[in-house]
Amino acid sequence: MPEGDSLRRAAARLQPLVGERVEVETPHPRAAVKRIAERLDGKLLESVDAVGKNLLLRFEGGLVLRSHLRMTGRWRLDPRGARRVGRPWLILRGERHEGVLWNGPVLELDGRDVARRLGPDVLDEGVDLDAIVRRLRAADQAREIGEALVDQRIVAGIGNMWKAEALWAARVSPWSRLADLSDAELRASVGAAATLMREALETGRPGRTVYRRHVCRRCGGAIASRGQGDDNRTTYWCPACQGGKGPPSA
Ligand SMILES: [Zn+2]
Repeated sequence: MPEGDSLRRAAARLQPLVGERVEVETPHPRAAVKRIAERLDGKLLESVDAVGKNLLLRFEGGLVLRSHLRMTGRWRLDPRGARRVGRPWLILRGERHEGVLWNGPVLELDGRDVARRLGPDVLDEGVDLDAIVRRLRAADQAREIGEALVDQRIVAGIGNMWKAEALWAARVSPWSRLADLSDAELRASVGAAATLMREALETGRPGRTVYRRHVCRRCGGAIASRGQGDDNRTTYWCPACQGGKGPPSA
C-alpha cells in the first residue's frame, strides 16, 4: 500500500522530467476516456510533489494532475523509448526519460483544491504536531484513534501500516476513543508516525515491528489483528502493551 513515504519516493523518481515539455499518452482505455493527453500534451511540467498520499503534477497554465495510487498504482521512470508489455495508464515522455504510471486507479486533472481538502502532511519538514492534535480534538471524540489517524482530512500521509506502527511505538491502542486519550498520547502517536515514516523515507527500509507480525518485540505477547473503520482494513496491535482497550465487541 503506497503511503506518504512511497509517494515521496515516486515524486523524487520523476524529478528528471521537471522543466521539460512532455509528450503525453494514455494507452489504457480507462485513462484515455479522461482526455488528459489532449489537454497536457506538449505542456511544460513545472513540478512534481507528494502531498499526503497524492502525487500532484503541475503543468504550465495552472493545470494540476492528481494521481492517487491506492493499493496497486506505481510510477516508474524509464529511459525514453523503453519497450514494455501491457498498457500503462499514462506516459509522460521527456527528452531522455519517460515517467510511466501503471494501474493508476485515481487520475484527475485540475486538482487545485486537493491540498485544501487534506490535513497537514505528516512528512512535511517541521510539521506542527500540536496543530494535528487540535484537528484530532475537533473531530468526533467518539472516533477510534486507529480510524482517525488514517483520515486524510485530519492528517495527510498516514496509511494502514504506519498507523499500526505508530500506535505500537506510542503504546496506544488503536481502539481507544479520542475522548479517552490525553493530548500527550495523541501527540506521541502522530509524532511516532512522523518519525517512523521519515526514517523509512531516508533509509528506504520500512521498519515493521507490529504490522503483519505475530509476536510483540517489546513484551513477547501475541499480536492481535482485526478489521477497523468503515473500510475494515486490518489493524495490528499488542493487547498486552498498548493499553487495555480492545475492539468494541471483544
Ligand atoms: Zn507487547
